[in-house]
Amino acid sequence: MFYTLKDFNFAGKRVLLRTDFNVPITNGQITDESRIEKSLPTIKYILNSKPEQFIIVSHLGRPQGTYSPEFTLTPVHKRLEQILSQKIHFDTNPRIRNVSSLLIEKLIMFENLRFDLVEESNNEEFARQLADLADIFVFDAFATSHREHASVVGIPKFIPSCAGFLMQKEVLFLRDKMLNPERPLVTIIGGAKEDKIKVIKNMLQKVDNLLIGGVLANTFLKSKNINIGQSKYSEQFLGYAKQIISSTYSEKISLPVDFVVADEFAEFAKSKVAGLSDEIDDWMVLDIGPYTIAGFLDIIRKARTVVWAGPVGVFEWSKFRKGTKELAITLAGLDITKIVGGGDSAAAIEFFKLTDKMTHVSTGGGASLELLSGKELPGIKALEENYQKFKQ
Ligand code: AMP
Repeated sequence: MFYTLKDFNFAGKRVLLRTDFNVPITNGQITDESRIEKSLPTIKYILNSKPEQFIIVSHLGRPQGTYSPEFTLTPVHKRLEQILSQKIHFDTNPRIRNVSSLLIEKLIMFENLRFDLVEESNNEEFARQLADLADIFVFDAFATSHREHASVVGIPKFIPSCAGFLMQKEVLFLRDKMLNPERPLVTIIGGAKEDKIKVIKNMLQKVDNLLIGGVLANTFLKSKNINIGQSKYSEQFLGYAKQIISSTYSEKISLPVDFVVADEFAEFAKSKVAGLSDEIDDWMVLDIGPYTIAGFLDIIRKARTVVWAGPVGVFEWSKFRKGTKELAITLAGLDITKIVGGGDSAAAIEFFKLTDKMTHVSTGGGASLELLSGKELPGIKALEENYQKFKQ
């Protein structure tokens, strides 16, 4: 149990919102603004409640604790000003040393919190500084709720806090509705983030089938001594992958049996279809191949619930899009529960114009996987503890 927006009166109060503006940006242009759109109901609700001051904070990407123009929230700030038709003061100092200058501003957005390591190291002093800026904290960054960061778990230790509309909706759907999913339950994991592998052990105890594509599949294949040429994979998690493959649950896992490979990591690279035993020393895997697609689709067609996090190839480039596209089209046509999680998966579904055909498109990839694998998310736990602490 945690507080929600309706439990508070924001009028005349100083409100701090942690949202998730971690949108894809290429050359300063936002290429998919769904995360901004999904945060608007909470932002507008707070604005309409006439707070004395309203501060919005977020992260963007993984800048490793130092400023880098690639990860600035400037494009998001500009876009939000346009959407709200309102000036928003943009404070570029993520360590908030200059609080006094902020006092006069009504609506403020901070620069990327991850430009300083204090955010990701969950520095208590930093969390307290942020908390001191507000009377009420609103957490709406579901996609970050699996991280023990200062603006996720630190701030709710100090001031009354509640979930925003997006957070409330995501938790309601993913945690409460997925507690007893209709079976067979199939999970598809793809994408490039290597730490997704950590949910697999728990996930295997819940699901009937686990289909793996993307960089994660490369790591598993490599751990089975299959030649993946120049493909990306995770050296760090090879041993972990080996352990999973030799566990009793491994028969639930389906790995690619063929691929689309490229001679370089480029949109118009030379490409071909290759099987597991083909010579691909100088090639890299950028998509699943036709036999893999057929096998994955067979399993999906028998499912009653499908959870999908991460594209199974580099869907941004047409030559390496087929796997992700076929899965999306097939899922769209099935009358089952279909949950798609994560920024890039949501972007892929949106690209194929199939968002409306899914039961739920979650903003969180890693977060939804962890929640579905039965793990308690730090962001939810922090709100629940906050409720216990501040309830009358
Ligand atoms: P994630 O954020 O973990 O869901 O990763 C999404 C990204 O993974 C997308 O931008 C894809 O282009 C990328 N991706 C998927 N498959 C591969 C692959 N085989 N090699 C390299 N990148 C991939």
